[in-house]
Amino acid sequence: MTPSRRRILTGIRPTGPLHLGHYAGALENWVRLQKEYECFFLIADYQVSDYADDIDRVRASVWEVALDWLAVGLDPEGSHFVIESMVPQHAELMVHLSWFMPLGRLQRNPTLKAEMADLDVGKKGVPVGFFIYPVMQVANILMPRAHLVPVGEDQLPHIEMTREIARKFNRDFGEVFPEPEPLVGRVPRLVGTDGQAKMSKSLDNAIYLKDDAETVRRKVMGMYTDPTRLRATDPGHVEGNPVFMYHDAFNPDAAEVAGLKERYVRGAVGDVEVKTKLVAAINNLLDPIRERRAYFEARPQLVKDALAKGGKAGFDAAEETISAVRKALRLDYLDRGMPEAR
Ligand code: ATP
Ligand code: MG
Repeated sequence: MTPSRRRILTGIRPTGPLHLGHYAGALENWVRLQKEYECFFLIADYQVSDYADDIDRVRASVWEVALDWLAVGLDPEGSHFVIESMVPQHAELMVHLSWFMPLGRLQRNPTLKAEMADLDVGKKGVPVGFFIYPVMQVANILMPRAHLVPVGEDQLPHIEMTREIARKFNRDFGEVFPEPEPLVGRVPRLVGTDGQAKMSKSLDNAIYLKDDAETVRRKVMGMYTDPTRLRATDPGHVEGNPVFMYHDAFNPDAAEVAGLKERYVRGAVGDVEVKTKLVAAINNLLDPIRERRAYFEARPQLVKDALAKGGKAGFDAAEETISAVRKALRLDYLDRGMPEAR
């Protein structure tokens, strides 16, 4: 059966609540595209090997992610919220695809390399499950035979691997998979409040969508700005200054942002004013999201229904793909019967 609408597959690991980086890098696009595409939004709970000693956090985060999705306006009626492990066919497809992924290709994946280095530095060591997570992600994308994958910039190497495997599979075993296109959000890689690394749930440098107004204020007021500037009357730098990056990303009042930048460079505005205006802009963005989150938090059955319905849709789509894959690989043994003696 060919799906009537083109498909999107994208996902998030259940390792914590979602933050502004997810919003500007990915979620905004998802909300916009969900009317045009049939969307599979995945909660990737097979890909949390670095949290294997904290399953309680994973369990709680599955619900956090679902709540955040509902809060930003993803619609579980038209789209599918899929918990990865409710579709164990993902694991089967990963095994088959891993046959066609050279070890060296995986070792050279720059995102994986950087993340593995971080795990090692943290003295956690790298679980085998972590090393193979990009192959799992390839299986996630190919499973519903997605055409488009809206993600943050760090995911691009994984999508390139997906395209290579899809091409190879189609060439060697017959056309089964579309070659998916990536789509990076408005802010490809939002920096964290530390001004150093990518904003990430794992690095304690995030402003969460569910943070209350006071928490947002505290986090923004504590942000690094221009380290070369000691007094408000010193000329400041706007480029590379995380507070101005956030203004660009989240303050819709372009004239206000331009005015602040102009005064900052001249040394005519203090950090406190720049930050106070940023707090207001972020809280304006988050207010309706907080309101919708509270609505669903008070109605857990609605969240559960969304996850049950989405899991079933994911499972049904996976059955079709997995049987096509077994046929293409000629692993449908009983249907084919015993081969002639060779
Ligand atoms: P973790 O630290 O547990 O890996 P994470 O914050 O990196 O969490 P993921 O679940 O790995 O979140 O990523 C989900 C999606 O959000 C991906 O498409 C990713 O590219 C995007 N994303 C995550 N952080 C950012 C960011 N700071 N800027 C832009 N996009 C981001
Ligand atoms: Mg990540």
